[in-house]
Order: sequence, then C-alpha cells, then structure tokens
Amino acid sequence: MATEGTAPQQKLDEWFLKLLACPGCDERRALTLNAEGTGLKCACGKYLFPVTDGIPVLLLDNAEILDADKTAGELSCGEGDKK
Ligand SMILES: [Zn+2]
Repeated sequence: MATEGTAPQQKLDEWFLKLLACPGCDERRALTLNAEGTGLKCACGKYLFPVTDGIPVLLLDNAEILDADKTAGELSCGEGDKK
C-alpha cells in the first residue's frame, strides 16, 4: 500500500461539493461532507460515500448504506472490510 503520511489532508471546497450529486438518488441530491472529512453523506440520508485522498468516490458499490430500508435483505454480509 502506498500511503503518504506526510501529505496534507485535502479539503473539499463547497463549490466543488455543489457539483456533485448522489448517484443513488433519482433526484440527484446534494452531498455534504461529514465532520471528519472522510465521507460524503447524501441528502437522502441513505448513502455515505468515502473520500479517498480528497477525492470523493461516488460509486454505489463503495458507498456505505446508512439506511438499509430499501435494500434490506441484501446487506446481511459484506461488513468487516473497513481499514
Ligand atoms: Zn442519495
């Protein structure tokens, strides 16, 4: 793993966040950065997208499901892959 520990933590600008939209919503809702700056939470409240090295990864496959309302039954496994 190539981890650059000395690299300054990049912050996402608000204007940039406004360009982003949740790929999991029909309405393409806005995303907001969480307090730690490590994830983008969708306005729908269902998804949390990871931010890697200051780059948001807006892939549903990588998203953390915060509200499994719609996908209940499909999420029983797959946990425990956190680093
Ligand atoms: Zn969403």
